[in-house]
Amino acid sequence: MDLNTVTDFIVPSPDAPAAGWQDGDAWLAGGTLLFYAPWPNLRRLRDLSQMGWPSITVTDDGLALAATCGITELHEFVPPPEWAAGPLLRQCVEEYLASFKVWNRQTVGGNICASLPAGPMITMTVALEATYLLWAADGSRRTVPAIDFVTGNLANVLRPGELLRSVHLPAASLARRYALRRFTLTKHGRSSVFLVGTHDASTGEFLITVTAATSHPFHVRFASPPTAVELTAGLDAAIPMEKYFDDPNGTPDHRRHLTYLFAEQLRTELAAT
Ligand SMILES: Cc1cc2nc3c(=O)[nH]c(=O)nc-3n(C[C@H](O)[C@H](O)[C@H](O)COP(=O)(O)OP(=O)(O)OC[C@H]3O[C@@H](n4cnc5c(N)ncnc54)[C@H](O)[C@@H]3O)c2cc1C
Repeated sequence: MDLNTVTDFIVPSPDAPAAGWQDGDAWLAGGTLLFYAPWPNLRRLRDLSQMGWPSITVTDDGLALAATCGITELHEFVPPPEWAAGPLLRQCVEEYLASFKVWNRQTVGGNICASLPAGPMITMTVALEATYLLWAADGSRRTVPAIDFVTGNLANVLRPGELLRSVHLPAASLARRYALRRFTLTKHGRSSVFLVGTHDASTGEFLITVTAATSHPFHVRFASPPTAVELTAGLDAAIPMEKYFDDPNGTPDHRRHLTYLFAEQLRTELAAT
């Protein structure tokens, strides 16, 4: 849709992208959220598409994704075979509800910064214990664990003028075995529950990541694979009832029910292999 309050389009300098930041400015990535709904407070768009950041970089300690990495680029990426969790990258991309236009425009960083409960790049990066590199408006930088970034529906820790520069997925997380469960009301619908379990064979650690069911992601962590009773107790302790999300895709009760069901399935699946 037209954003008829927007009067300027800025191509930022890669060295100081937030220079001259004002109220009413917004970063523009793929634009699929920004041009999807009215945002009456927007005055200027700062286009990130020409920053020249390399999209995907494999390093000894893992994988770096630029915020501007296109979803289709990530979909085409072939991870090294030693990354047991490598296929999760592609699976999370495929969990998008997306038309041709949205599919080809949206970015990893745009999906994370949109901060919808059903953001699959949020699921992927939280499940693999990624860290996000943020650039503040004054040029300073900070690193935030993915689990701490999204704070609620359409809410995150970004400050005015701050941007998400890149995502780092550690090699140790990518080496873990994983399993996932997802629920949507319709075949191509938005996720209403999306859980990923991972198991680290070297340490024994077992991690359940709960997304889409809740207004922000949750980790439920165990030093070794839990019993069914321990798993239930862990979910009870980690996720208060009021954090289960309520929208037309599912009631909190429905989402909570599926979260416990799927978590138990992930527990038995990962224990069996
Ligand atoms: C039909 C339809 C279905 C959709 N289904 C889903 C869905 O199932 N799940 C879902 O999560 N979303 C969904 N969306 C919303 C949206 O398309 C996605 O979240 C998309 O991934 C956003 O990416 P983008 O690159 O287009 O971001 P943009 O629209 O460009 O930006 C999104 C937000 O993030 C900010 N932003 C972007 N990049 C950065 C950055 N690097 N640093 C700081 N801020 C930044 C922008 O200012 C804006 O506020 C849907 C949209 C449509 C139209």
